[in-house]
Order: sequence, then structure tokens, then C-alpha cells
Amino acid sequence: IGGHPKPQAGPIKPKGVSRILAVASGKGGVGKSTVSANLAVALARQGRRVGLLDADIYGPSQPRMMGVSGSPNSPDGTVIEPLKAHGVTLMSIGLMVPEDKAVVWRGPMLMGALQQMLGQVNWGELDVLIVDLPPGTGDVQLTLCTKSELSGAIVVSTPQDVALIDARKALDMFRTLKTPVLGLIENMSFFTCPDCGGEHHIFGHGGVASEAKALGLPLLGALPIDLETRLAGDAGTPVAAGEGAVSEAYAQIAKGLVA
Ligand code: ADP
Repeated sequence: IGGHPKPQAGPIKPKGVSRILAVASGKGGVGKSTVSANLAVALARQGRRVGLLDADIYGPSQPRMMGVSGSPNSPDGTVIEPLKAHGVTLMSIGLMVPEDKAVVWRGPMLMGALQQMLGQVNWGELDVLIVDLPPGTGDVQLTLCTKSELSGAIVVSTPQDVALIDARKALDMFRTLKTPVLGLIENMSFFTCPDCGGEHHIFGHGGVASEAKALGLPLLGALPIDLETRLAGDAGTPVAAGEGAVSEAYAQIAKGLVA
């Protein structure tokens, strides 16, 4: 994706991709990228053919979280070969731009880049392509919902009011754009003290569950604040690639997604 990506006309769904699932949040920092990476890895471990498209153009986290670096090849200058990590086919603008360099683009270029990442990347045959959206309700969300055949969206939030207020906006956006919401995930739901074993609700309790209930949507899972999740993300080996309760929780969510 060199030069100046321009938006294209018409809906885009890579040929071999069965379905596209978007992972969204209202607010940044609630764990949307962490959940995207872990769900992708959990699905791959279950034998699914999975792609992960990092659509957070201004703050791409997936190269770091999935532990990949290096530029994707484009032998013919048109088709871009994605990279592979933990059984997942991956594409991110972060693979094209050094980690300490900013992408300073206006909306049309942003949308062009997203469309190129959908349409020009050789995704191959995939059961599911997970799209890690940027936070909020902006150009990327609008482009993806209107210009790709999106099967559905998952909304990630913490139980904290400030996160939930924005999550409701994301849900409202999907309603407006007629994108089905498959369910909500409560991240940073609780913290189990390693010393006393007590459960602490640092960001509040059950906020996402009651939001899901009020909207008649499934609560797909509730994930703890977990040191290993954070360390594994920073190390590029998502927690779902290993064993343990959190990995199992991701496996359960993944099972329900592609039943
Ligand atoms: P977002 O994509 O919503 O901006 P990230 O996935 O980048 O959020 O997560 C923000 C930070 O919080 C990262 O440092 C990540 O490692 C950490 N994080 C996310 N979820 C958890 C969790 N359940 N437990 C501990 N740390 C987490």
C-alpha cells in the first residue's frame, strides 16, 4: 500500500472469505485489540482458517500483539501477501509504517487504505476474517459497514460508565447502519487477587451484562483483568495461544462465534 490510497466504489468482500466479523468499541483502551487477537488465535486453534485485519490505522497494535514484524511482499505491485502468526493470516498498516512513525492521513486516504487491505490482500480461503476496528464511530467504521459485506460486529467494553456510554454509541451506529451485533464482551470484568484470592470489580460490576440484557443481545463473555493477558500481548504471544483459564474463556467465546 504505497503512495496515496484512494477509496474505491462498490462493496468489498475478499473472494475466499466466508464471513467478516468486526470487533468494535466505543472507547480506546478497553481491550478491543487484545480481544481481536485472542479470538483470532482461539479460532485458529479450533481449526478455523482465520484472518486478522488491523483496521486501527492511526494506532495499529496487531503487529506487536501478534509478534510479527517485517513488510508484506507484493511481487506484482498489486496483490499484497499478508503475514502469518499463531496460525492467523495478518495484515496491518503497522507492517508498512515503522512503529515510531505516525500515519497522518485524512478520511479519504484512510478509507482507501482500508479498502486496499480488504481487496488487494491475498487473504486466501478463510472461514472468518476478524477486523480490529479503531475505537469510536468514524470513517473506518462507516466504510467497513457500508462497503464490505460484514456478517456482524462484536462490541467490547469494560463495565465502567465512561466506557459503556461510548459502547452504546457504537451499538447505535451498528443499528443505524443495519449491521447485526452478535453480542457484547465485558473485558476487565474482575480482578482475582493473587494473594487473597478475593474478586475485585475495579471498573464496576456487571455493567456490560445489564446493557446486553437491556438490548436483548448475548453477553459473549466476561474476561478478567489479568497480568498474563497484558504480558502476553506485549510479548506477541496472545494469552489464547497458551493454556489456562483466560485461554479457555477465549476458546469458549470463539466456539460460540463460529458454531
Ligand atoms: P483497545 O484496542 O481497546 O485500545 P488494547 O487491547 O490495546 O485496547 O488494550 C489496552 C491495554 O490494556 C493494553 O496494554 C493491553 O495489554 C491491556 N489489556 C487489555 N485487556 C486486558 C485484560 N483483560 N487484562 C489486563 N490487561 C489488559
